[in-house]
Amino acid sequence: MAEAVAQKGKQMKQVLVSELDLTKIQGNGDFPCPNCGVTISPEDESEDVYTILEEKIRNDALEELVIQCNKCSSRIRLTGFPILKMENL
Ligand SMILES: [Zn+2]
Repeated sequence: MAEAVAQKGKQMKQVLVSELDLTKIQGNGDFPCPNCGVTISPEDESEDVYTILEEKIRNDALEELVIQCNKCSSRIRLTGFPILKMENL
């Protein structure tokens, strides 16, 4: 096709991005990578399993996080972070 020729040299790198709403996850927040199924724990800060690419903070609260799975290199956009409130005991 003519269009394919026109795009030659202007290669678009397609990266798979999945969206995940943390409010729909049961339990302690761990979830399987939508692509390869490896368990990703948001509390794991070792970055062995995933790498944080982007953080969106709003009013001192984490609103959105874009991570990359180190196993399959797919990207996952996490939303729905719980708003941490200071509770009076
Ligand atoms: Zn993966």
